[in-house]
Amino acid sequence: MKNLITSLSLLVLIASGKTAVAQSTQIDPAKFNNPIIKDQYTGDPAALVYKDKVYLYAGHDEAPKDFHFYKMNEWVVYSSSDMKKWESHPVPLKTTDFAWAKGDAWASQVIERNGKFYWYVTVEHGSVNGKAIGIAVSDSPTGPFKDALGKALITNDMTKFSDISWDDIDPTVYIDTDGQAYLFWGNTACHYAKLKENMIELDGPIHHIKELPHFTEAPWIHKHKNWYYLSYAYEFPEKIAYAMSKSITGPWEFKGILNEIAGNSNTNHQSIIEFKGQSYFIYHNGATQPDGGSFRRSVCVDKLYYNKDGTMKRVVMTSEGIQ
Ligand code: CA
Repeated sequence: MKNLITSLSLLVLIASGKTAVAQSTQIDPAKFNNPIIKDQYTGDPAALVYKDKVYLYAGHDEAPKDFHFYKMNEWVVYSSSDMKKWESHPVPLKTTDFAWAKGDAWASQVIERNGKFYWYVTVEHGSVNGKAIGIAVSDSPTGPFKDALGKALITNDMTKFSDISWDDIDPTVYIDTDGQAYLFWGNTACHYAKLKENMIELDGPIHHIKELPHFTEAPWIHKHKNWYYLSYAYEFPEKIAYAMSKSITGPWEFKGILNEIAGNSNTNHQSIIEFKGQSYFIYHNGATQPDGGSFRRSVCVDKLYYNKDGTMKRVVMTSEGIQ
């Protein structure tokens, strides 16, 4: 606040002609709010707005500095009332909480329905080759969570769009205004299916979305006014692009790049929310902590803005974050 006041004072001085030196608003690096999680490395953020708080879920990047792949055994949760100060909570969910899984706490998302919190996660399956999607449930957004199903909801053999073993990852879940829930997920191809009201069973066939150019992974569904948005990781290294539709089942119209490659990270994973009248873009990078990188990521937040036609303005990634 002191620096802000100093900067405002300088602007007043400039405006009053008392100084000829141009000054820009400067914020002490110690007050940079990105990354928002500074006590550990985290990636693949997914935020939930519930009552008067935002709950931020992420995977814990545990890779040592000289280990060049993902080492992820648990997910973490933080909460905030103002998007600036984030409170950490005890670890709410580990891959070992799924008896049928054998590791890899990859991307996930939590949603609330009828007072219960359902956490859709990516893990490595213990007996079916490849990645799978499981569901944990809790009565509280901060957990503890437990396996809701006792088995995977989605296994690699349920989609055969690609030969790779990790094409069934990155779940995003959305409950439409008519109460119908949908699960979207995928790498290489984007899939979706309806969920039953119990949130732990598919309700119908798996569909494939074909109109998303250079889809890599990380789908995220959100709605703003009367538009549905499907944002996703585009190409590799990953930018974030998006498409829009008047229906959650499409057809989707590609709208271009939403966010450029984030510093020093070959992946990205976005979460888009509205909280107290402001839209936010939550993502990760590998550049905002000293030993960061693609396997030691950090979650950041910047504001998101819409154009009058409903398209989204390109995100400006900042060090300051939310001030
Ligand atoms: Ca598959």
